[in-house]
Amino acid sequence: MRQLLDEAADAGYAVGAFNVSNMEQVQAVMEAARATDSPVILAVSRAARAYSNDRFLVHLVRAAVELYPDLPVSLHQDHGNSPETCLSAIELGFTSVMMDGSLAEDGKTPTDFEHNVAVTRTAVEQAHAAGVTVEGELGRIGGIEDGHGSGRAHLTDPDQAVEFVERTGIDALAVAIGTSHGAYKFSEPPTGDVLAMDVVERIHDRLPDVHLVLHGASSVPEQLVDRINEFGGEIRPTWGVPVEELRRGIRHGVRKINVETDARLAATGALRHFFHERRADFEPRAYLGAARDAMRAVYVERMTQFGQAGHAHDYEPISLGQMRDRYRG
Ligand SMILES: [Zn+2]
Repeated sequence: MRQLLDEAADAGYAVGAFNVSNMEQVQAVMEAARATDSPVILAVSRAARAYSNDRFLVHLVRAAVELYPDLPVSLHQDHGNSPETCLSAIELGFTSVMMDGSLAEDGKTPTDFEHNVAVTRTAVEQAHAAGVTVEGELGRIGGIEDGHGSGRAHLTDPDQAVEFVERTGIDALAVAIGTSHGAYKFSEPPTGDVLAMDVVERIHDRLPDVHLVLHGASSVPEQLVDRINEFGGEIRPTWGVPVEELRRGIRHGVRKINVETDARLAATGALRHFFHERRADFEPRAYLGAARDAMRAVYVERMTQFGQAGHAHDYEPISLGQMRDRYRG
């Protein structure tokens, strides 16, 4: 993933990291990437690994690499809770891991700075020896998703970020600026005051070579929520992160933007609509196909908004062995 983010930094865009846990999601991301000529980050949470017994997912991603040989693809462990989890991902063939030491191994309890440095440093040593990229997290992102999260946000301190990067050697840093995981991010449209984009700017000024990552960055478009509710859903009014704010982040070092909720909303709306309209249908390929189409549309839109569209062929992907040598050097 390091190479994808380096290239994104050179050309001034961000790459969406899309969470996948089944075949339709992997296909939807890959088709969107082909349609927009985009590099790809497929993110897999611990919950997704458990759901798919991870080997199924890893082989789906292998199939994607075979079928789309000209697109750069990174397989990323999202929110690894321990160096052991990261190592098991590396052994499965992931090319990037997130070591989230901002929370304890239970994925819920906030930890102190020294704990975070220690586990992240361990993960970096293991990963870089295999040529694998590491994302760390400092501060805490709000919300809870897939059982992960303390439910309380805590903004990243720029001074501490400098020390954290120096002591851990991470490639990318997830920063907490007031975003949260899940669909319920803000109870009113967020303004520049709600999101601490100035924190992104201050960290980027001090750490220009570290790629910044935004989590919980779904936009939660009103029409996706409305579609679910129109066909029997009960999603409360909610607002996500406006794309203009994400663009401001991209101008200041944000190179990876995690989006999961928007695709979940799109799939759910498509399924509710399908079952409402086609009451005699019972063919999983038909309704899962409809969900896949809806997710693909979201991915195409985000890839275009993040600026990654058109950049899949800017460079030749390098191997993990070459990355390992680069980390050693
Ligand atoms: Zn996250």
